[in-house]
Amino acid sequence: MSENAAAKESAIERFRALTTQIKSYEELLGVVYWDMRTGAPRKGIAQRSEAVGALSSEMFRLSTSSEMGELLDALSEPGAQDGLTAIDRKLIQETRKDYERNLKIPPELYREYVVLTSQAETAWEEAKAKSDFQGFLPYLKQIVDYNRRFIELWGVKGTPYDTLLDMYEPGTTTAELDRLFGELRKRLVPLAEEIAKRGDKPDTSFLQGKFDKEAQKRFSLYTLGQMGYDFEAGRLDESVHPFATGLSTGDVRITTRYLEDDLTSALFGTIHECGHALYEQNVDPALNGTPLCGGTSMGIHESQSRLWENMVGRSRGFWRRYLPELKKEFPAQLEGVDADAFYRGSNVVEPSLIRIEADELTYNIHIMIRYEIEKMLFNENLDPERLEEAWNAKYKEALGIEPSNAGEGVLQDVHWSGGMFGYFPSYSLGNMYAAQIIHTAEKEMPSLADDIEAGRLLPLKQWLTEKVYRHGKMLEPGEIIERITGEPLQSTYLCDYLEKKYKEIYRLG
Ligand code: ZN
Repeated sequence: MSENAAAKESAIERFRALTTQIKSYEELLGVVYWDMRTGAPRKGIAQRSEAVGALSSEMFRLSTSSEMGELLDALSEPGAQDGLTAIDRKLIQETRKDYERNLKIPPELYREYVVLTSQAETAWEEAKAKSDFQGFLPYLKQIVDYNRRFIELWGVKGTPYDTLLDMYEPGTTTAELDRLFGELRKRLVPLAEEIAKRGDKPDTSFLQGKFDKEAQKRFSLYTLGQMGYDFEAGRLDESVHPFATGLSTGDVRITTRYLEDDLTSALFGTIHECGHALYEQNVDPALNGTPLCGGTSMGIHESQSRLWENMVGRSRGFWRRYLPELKKEFPAQLEGVDADAFYRGSNVVEPSLIRIEADELTYNIHIMIRYEIEKMLFNENLDPERLEEAWNAKYKEALGIEPSNAGEGVLQDVHWSGGMFGYFPSYSLGNMYAAQIIHTAEKEMPSLADDIEAGRLLPLKQWLTEKVYRHGKMLEPGEIIERITGEPLQSTYLCDYLEKKYKEIYRLG
């Protein structure tokens, strides 16, 4: 072996070891976050936040260390990547991006921010329960300030908000989102109005009532099994705000929320989180232990959860197969309800205040509102003190309804307490990706609709594993959508899908 080859080998080996170490800490941190959100004692949270801060800081230190800089430089020299695997090359590319980004943030600033956001999530939970916006405001102000400083340090490309968007959906800009949301608004708002004016409103009375939590839990577990969720590589728990967390392909946990007076919350929440989990459980195991093991972007991640929740879980075929199973748990409440009635009832369109309970059509309007507010915060310097007022005004304008308190208004989502500004658009991007992907799936699998109606959900899972899941972060969002569908992201597939579905449900000509 020549001297050069030996040096290269040791550089790549040291590089792999360092990224594996960082990824291991990230996995441990994931367990801690999961614990904090699923039942850790409240009194221990402040101290735990210190531990989270310490571990995050260590990861941050390693990822911006001079050793990391030297290894990345050595591996970027001409010829240094010859003979390396595609995984190694992608790993170097992604790590360099993070390195350059993190290097611009002073470590002390970063540590303060991690401790702040870790405490803020608990503060948010309490403020939400009491509908106390003023109680959460001091946290929110600080989190917004930190993000404004980060944007300055990272450097603005396009608009300040673009800098945040890029973290969740690489390459997405305010200009592109303005266009996509503009197209959605043009077709979906008139559809929602037509439904409100002339639609034949489905009966939803059977969805309200008393639904035993244990029975709901049994059905959630049953549904997960049908979808091919691997229980030996995951578990189901309960939390205020449902989420999925992928620690490795062998440990992908989800939570749901059971409401005794609302059957749909856990029903569709569980399917949604399972969509995220199927993605994480089915990444190519060769990517385990690397930062490439996970969803490629938040938009693609949401496309998988929303595809399962809406295009499968809220389809007529699904309920032809599964309503009899649900009736075993709730025979009295669902007596006399047939699959068609259940399908129509669980797809009712109604302007509502809560995003996670919104129907497929108005859901995108909830996202547009958050997108516009975040743009105001970062591109127009809106004072966080005026957030509640801005929020209520937008709901009134877009949906004709106004929250009566902050708990069902500006405090309803967890995202801002964690500093996740720029995340919300991922949900609508996810809806658009999902509609475009399922359009192709239907062409490539002519028996898809029959399969779903027969309870054969695994062929779809298999197809998605092949096209999306297994790639992890090896492909960019744009590459995934173009490879699958042959074109970049379009809004038309979502609009076509929603028009067809809702005109039929509401019997509009
Ligand atoms: Zn989701």
